[in-house]
Amino acid sequence: MKLVASTSRAGEVVQLTFGGEVTEASDFPDLKLEGVTRVDLNVGGVTYINSGGVQGWTNWVRDFGQRFPKTLLSLEKLPLILTRQLISVKGFVPRNSRIQSFYALYYCPDCDQEAQKLLIVGKDFRFDKTQPELIDSQAEMKCATCAKPMEIDMLIDHLRKITWNLF
Ligand SMILES: [Zn+2]
Repeated sequence: MKLVASTSRAGEVVQLTFGGEVTEASDFPDLKLEGVTRVDLNVGGVTYINSGGVQGWTNWVRDFGQRFPKTLLSLEKLPLILTRQLISVKGFVPRNSRIQSFYALYYCPDCDQEAQKLLIVGKDFRFDKTQPELIDSQAEMKCATCAKPMEIDMLIDHLRKITWNLF
């Protein structure tokens, strides 16, 4: 499956959705953003990315940042596969971007069990300079097997450092 992109515009905001696989064969959309202040990019449906896809993605993002420096790129429903790229690849998101929501990874050391939950920044979770902070009890997660509170994965700490440097 290839990258599936769709766009719609409402006033100054463009809704953009990416889904499927991001590879060297992916065609990224050529956006027309005159008068657009924000692009809401929903990447929740991205299931796979390889090194060729990372190259195409970073090129597209660099172009976005250069052509539309005053347009905010707001990433929604960031899946773990993209969070891992964001942490390790410089320039994976432009400076004029933010993370609106992301899938957090939870872990139960007793049961060696993982789970995921979508966290909304500013509602469920706050990126603080010293400590990532869950601010809503809904953001906590109990292990499905032993019912103990699960630990949030280290990944979130890396994500916090990245966003702290960005904004
Ligand atoms: Zn457990």
